[in-house]
Amino acid sequence: MKILLVEDEPRLADLLRRTLTEEGHQVVHAADLRAAQAALDDEDTPELLIVDRMLPDGDGLGLIRALRARGDRRPALCLTARDRVDERVEGLHSGADDYLGKPFALEELLARLRACKRTSRRGPKRVIFPYGPSPPPPPP
Ligand code: CA
Repeated sequence: MKILLVEDEPRLADLLRRTLTEEGHQVVHAADLRAAQAALDDEDTPELLIVDRMLPDGDGLGLIRALRARGDRRPALCLTARDRVDERVEGLHSGADDYLGKPFALEELLARLRACKRTSRRGPKRVIFPYGPSPPPPPP
């Protein structure tokens, strides 16, 4: 699976890149929102996103919100130190498929990624859009 990893901490990004590569994934790394957007605009596009929230140029949740606002349902997992209950709820309401607080166990991240992938295979899922109009329904 091709994964876009949006994470600005170099050591964590490196660890995740190595671990995910060992698991057979292809990892594209972006250290800020600008680089993440550029990677998403790329033709050879990632299938799943892992997104940190505290990035040098803003909140990673904004990236997920923007994706969902244009009907993009690629699975996205928030990986962040912003781990209070209200922050988790905000993350899930904003379109994240899963939310994992830092520090985390690598095994748990890998298990959650597999779950995200399974869910996305089941076809389009309902996403709640508390911040804007709902996207048009998928074609029959
Ligand atoms: Ca960060």
